[in-house]
Amino acid sequence: MPVGGPRTPLRVAIIGSGPSGFYSAEHLLSQDDVNVQVDMFDRVPTPFGLVRAGVAPDHQKIKSVTRVYERTAADDRFRFRGNVEVGRHIDHADLMEYFHAVIYAVGASADRRMGIPHEYLPGSHSGPEFVAWYNASPLDRARTYDFSGFRAVVVGNGNVAMDIARMLVLPAEELARTDMARHAVTALAEGSVREVVMLGRRGPAQAAFTPKELREVAERDDVDVIVHPDEVALDPHSRHDAEQHPDRNRDQNLEILRELAARGDRGRDRRIVMRFLASPVSLHGTNHVEAVEVARNELYRGDRGALRARMTDDREMIPTGLVFRAIGYQGVPIAGVPFDPLAATIPNEAGRVIDLLDGSPRYGEYAAGWIKRGPTGIIGTNKPDAQETVETLLQDLRAGHLQRRVPSRRVLARLVGERQGDLTSWADWQYLDGVEQEMGAEVDAPRIKFARVETMMRFLGERGGS
Ligand code: NAP
Repeated sequence: MPVGGPRTPLRVAIIGSGPSGFYSAEHLLSQDDVNVQVDMFDRVPTPFGLVRAGVAPDHQKIKSVTRVYERTAADDRFRFRGNVEVGRHIDHADLMEYFHAVIYAVGASADRRMGIPHEYLPGSHSGPEFVAWYNASPLDRARTYDFSGFRAVVVGNGNVAMDIARMLVLPAEELARTDMARHAVTALAEGSVREVVMLGRRGPAQAAFTPKELREVAERDDVDVIVHPDEVALDPHSRHDAEQHPDRNRDQNLEILRELAARGDRGRDRRIVMRFLASPVSLHGTNHVEAVEVARNELYRGDRGALRARMTDDREMIPTGLVFRAIGYQGVPIAGVPFDPLAATIPNEAGRVIDLLDGSPRYGEYAAGWIKRGPTGIIGTNKPDAQETVETLLQDLRAGHLQRRVPSRRVLARLVGERQGDLTSWADWQYLDGVEQEMGAEVDAPRIKFARVETMMRFLGERGGS
């Protein structure tokens, strides 16, 4: 009986329940000519990856993409197995034994290093971890932040840096009406941060944030966005590029930044100061961050024409006790799966994992999303990315590379249940989802998120079986 035929379903494990995992599942389940079963694993009890733990709490509309994922999960060939961690409860070898194919859609859960002295002094925090903390990720619940100072510095000029800056200056009443973790709403409300300095190492024309996100803060009446006129003026290289190569995002960003520079300081008591051509050189402090030493940069044309930043001797100190490093996410290796340490991705060809050294294909092993291509793009970017991976998988199926006998789903369920008693199903998530929304309705918020696995398990236990 061929795998994928009526009596022998193609059994696929998808590791990670974020956008790339769900788009992979959707594409697999949409194949009319292949009998397929999808088991999706996540290390936390709840689904949706960065849609739940990354997208900013005040961006509810973006989160409504989960309705599409819910339709996929409603397919009776789909199973969700939450609170199951690969490398702890189940490993790569198990997955290869129990499934015809495994798609790693695990994202990029670590953050990049700045590579400067005292980078990790207390008071200096990973931006991605902070985002996960205020979004109620149970993996990050125990972190603590000191918001008692007036100023925070956010290193980076991407949308994550912008999200963090916004969360730090939004008034508490507004945060309380979002689905921000209650521990974060309380801590921020009790804090005194009133100024956030964002440090962009290159110029305004190279900023990685998008105009929509910039406009969102620029249009607030209760927050000043301060841009120094001399930093928004383009250097000759950027001017040349702006004249030669039109780019809508860049041009809109520049227009808004020029307006902001002209508008100046309106004297609001909360402000975001956007600095450009400014790189942290070192963090200073004895037992805790007390200041960021910043170098002024200049741009030069590097390899392949890209504009790069290099430091000048011009230095300044920005006093602060709170630093967030929002300079990008980074993939982490999975035991037993090839990993390219330079790109921090799983080496692959159109989603099929390949051996790092000789490039030979590893049939049955696939990657999708950030761990496949690196941490770039918006949620929608993951759809074509995941479809490409699934097409590669199906090509391998048709070529006979996935023809093996694997144990039935029942056997797999027993194994997982033995290894992790507290696993969650889709029905469990639907119950938790309902409770979160009910609790939110009482305080005029979209939901109150569970931030601890124990609490989720207690609620599920009290409901009476799953
Ligand atoms: P990102 O867009 O890649 O931005 C990273 C920023 O960090 C860049 O400005 C980069 O500058 C800077 N950087 C890197 N290394 C640095 C260093 N050593 N020193 C100083 N600055 C450094 O990454 P991200 O903000 O983490 O976002 C990840 C992805 O998620 C992006 O595709 C983003 O658009 C997306 N996202 C979207 C939204 C949204 O749509 N609202 C929200 C959040 C995230 P260079 O350009 O000079 O390298």
